[in-house]
Amino acid sequence: MDFYAHVLEHKDELIKRTKQLLAIPSVLDRFDPASETPFGTAINDALQFMLEMAKDDGFITKNINNYAAHVEYGSGKEILGVLCHLDVVPTGDGWTYGPFEPTIADGKLYARGAADDKGPTMAAYFALKLLKDLGFAVNKRVRIILGTDEETEWRGIGEYFKTEQMPDIGFAPDAMFPLIYGEKGIFTFDVTGKTTDTDLITFTAGDRYNVVPDYASCTLRKDLKEEFTQYLAFHGLSGEIDGDKYVVHGKRAHAMQPNLGVNAAFILAEFLQQHIDNAFIDYICEYLTFDHLGEKLRIDHYDDEMKEFTINPAVYEYNKNSFKIGINCRYPKEWDKDSAKINLDASAKKYHFKIHYLGDKVVHYVDKNDPLVQTLYDAYVKYTGDTEHEPITIGGGTYARSLDKAVAFGPMMPGRKDVAHQIDEYLFVDDLLKATAIYMEAIHQLTK
Ligand code: ZN
Ligand code: ZN
Repeated sequence: MDFYAHVLEHKDELIKRTKQLLAIPSVLDRFDPASETPFGTAINDALQFMLEMAKDDGFITKNINNYAAHVEYGSGKEILGVLCHLDVVPTGDGWTYGPFEPTIADGKLYARGAADDKGPTMAAYFALKLLKDLGFAVNKRVRIILGTDEETEWRGIGEYFKTEQMPDIGFAPDAMFPLIYGEKGIFTFDVTGKTTDTDLITFTAGDRYNVVPDYASCTLRKDLKEEFTQYLAFHGLSGEIDGDKYVVHGKRAHAMQPNLGVNAAFILAEFLQQHIDNAFIDYICEYLTFDHLGEKLRIDHYDDEMKEFTINPAVYEYNKNSFKIGINCRYPKEWDKDSAKINLDASAKKYHFKIHYLGDKVVHYVDKNDPLVQTLYDAYVKYTGDTEHEPITIGGGTYARSLDKAVAFGPMMPGRKDVAHQIDEYLFVDDLLKATAIYMEAIHQLTK
């Protein structure tokens, strides 16, 4: 059956409901576990809107204490989970149309959450509703799982899985088409220590582990102002002396592709190493500077499918001879974590520093030849005719990671600008309709 043609027949209703959901300003208020509405009333309104609509449409629903919920259709031993979220990031200023006044212009539906993730949520919901209305039998329980704080700490989905069964297979309409079947692991650690040098007073750069720092500054007891100005000019670098601060500007980038940025701390450290004798600076220069592959630390790895290991030494806090360097790595499958830890510990030991292992989100990976990947990809190809773009792996983390066996699937079409989290976020109306048809096909094929 041509699901796209069927979706077009119900276009007005789909758009109407999507607009209603988008009109709810579901930004996290504040997290209050003692409250009836732990993520605030607006997010709860969005959750209730979905559940009321689903009940009216004849679905079984389950609400997990307003932390998350699901809409269910079908019966069977296995569960197919479609993981969505109803919260949105703050709007920021300067919208052409109100961020919560959904408006269609030039074929685009503008609103905060249009692309991430309320538009796709409605597409997935509507796909299931249309299948149900058409009387398609499904051999699994299909659950549209509604998360409520994907944009912050995933507490909603965490609470959900304390009581609810893990779906056997699933997908998350919260990224891009065709699909993402592999996500690198995310490994974070700090290097800390003390130094005895008296020249360096402070050294600061970066505030988030997942961003390449575009700003670094230091203060010194020694006067290196002239040398610094010459160094910047000679190498064509951007920076200045600001009062007693030596400032370097680099270029921001996401930690999953640190080579696209310029780490300002590296530039400042390499300058300082020429003029002062400081173990913190020496460590940075020996093991970290301009080496996004981790070769200096001997923790590099390359996987044919998931590509290279990357390292982003992101956060630097040096004050009165004590310091911390915060580091975020993205690793492909088959990375030898134990050997890496041995090499990391050895690097620190050489300087009498310490490594503190903070977090490890393991690789999320579904085999490219798995029927789940194949079926979803075929559904995408059927309604787009696009065989040029293939399933991919990425260095970031998507919501699909919340499920044991799931991939990120849509809604952004290849070649579209990524407008999630931006001012004037939008979703092409055509993409909303296409995505709905693709999700219908996918759910149908996975449950026949
Ligand atoms: Zn999202
Ligand atoms: Zn988001």
